[in-house]
Amino acid sequence: MAQLKLERVYKRYVNSDKSFFKKAKQNDYAVENLSFTCYDGEFVGILGPSGCGKTTTLRMIAGLEEITGGDIYIGETRINNLLPKDRNIGLAFEDYALYPPLTVYENLAFNMRAKNRSDSEIKRAIDYVAPLLKVEELLRMKPPALSGGQKQRVNIARAIVRRPGLLLLDEPLSHLDGKMRQQLRHEIKRMHHEIKCTTIIVTHDQMEAMSLSDRIVIMKDGNLQQMGEPIEVYDNPANEFVAGFIGEPPMNLLSSVISRADGAFLFTFPESELRVEVPKRYYDALSDGQRVTLGVRPVDVVVAKTPTKGSSVPIAIYENLGDERRVSVRVGDSLLNMTTSEDVWYERGEMVQLEFKAEKTHLFDPETGNRIVSRKEGS
Ligand code: ADP
Ligand code: MG
Repeated sequence: MAQLKLERVYKRYVNSDKSFFKKAKQNDYAVENLSFTCYDGEFVGILGPSGCGKTTTLRMIAGLEEITGGDIYIGETRINNLLPKDRNIGLAFEDYALYPPLTVYENLAFNMRAKNRSDSEIKRAIDYVAPLLKVEELLRMKPPALSGGQKQRVNIARAIVRRPGLLLLDEPLSHLDGKMRQQLRHEIKRMHHEIKCTTIIVTHDQMEAMSLSDRIVIMKDGNLQQMGEPIEVYDNPANEFVAGFIGEPPMNLLSSVISRADGAFLFTFPESELRVEVPKRYYDALSDGQRVTLGVRPVDVVVAKTPTKGSSVPIAIYENLGDERRVSVRVGDSLLNMTTSEDVWYERGEMVQLEFKAEKTHLFDPETGNRIVSRKEGS
């Protein structure tokens, strides 16, 4: 059991050939000023698009990559200079790296043999983890005979067999197909309930992060964007990036200009007739003519056939996916997408009314991308 703490951690790769692999992004840190804590026994997901620094972060924690700046602690111990083998960390990366000539049993036993553990001790450890990851039947087989899902189970079993203080999983499900992914996801969760080891899973799949994690760290371009419980980052995204990254289908993000008329604020949209009332809790934070980005999830706009107050807009796209319908309308040169589970259909061009759920609207500053805090949240 262990608490992990990163304090202002930086990583800059020094490429041997200097010029050849110039990085696309402006700064040259793969990880920049990263601080977060995983509590003892917590399951934390690191989520972000490819190249944002997730694997680099994990490799620094594991001791496989030198830290350019900052400190990493396990419990009270600063581990910056500890050898990987002395960190008591279990690792499972996406490429399983099992030893092909050895049986699954010997793969699981390998590190303990290297530490001169007795046969009976090794057997006891393997007997304990094998059922947790459902690999009992595979113990006599060799890796080339295993399916992708089975290899991944063995990979994770090997990482936990020595009962590490900290378990690091890097995209462990990325090579698996839909159903297998789902199944192994459940098993990882069950395994964690059983052994309660502090665990970090790295993934670019927001569903995976949301379903497994107690808390999620969201990264972009080497920088922390937000850390919070899944529902927190879903309901209160700290910025436009998090808002667009969490949730499927993604949140609508519309450029809007605030217009004040008769003491009330309205969202207006360039090249569009659509008008939407601004929730009162934002009034203090806004002024006439201000540009904002309005965020609203597809489930949080209600489409009505019967005319009510507000503006009518024509349906641009209607799709029936069986368990939900998706409709879109044009707002200037973007699309506003909505989903509903109601059993309705629309003709293309049909005029409808839109109602934005006031409590579920999010505002962002278009310059910084940061959330504009409303009165209720701020107080
Ligand atoms: P992720 O796991 O989130 O996809 P990585 O941590 O692998 O991202 O990479 C973060 C950044 O660091 C990327 O820009 C990547 O190109 C760069 N990078 C990763 N490994 C190396 C390396 N060995 N040498 C130079 N640059 C690297
Ligand atoms: Mg990676």
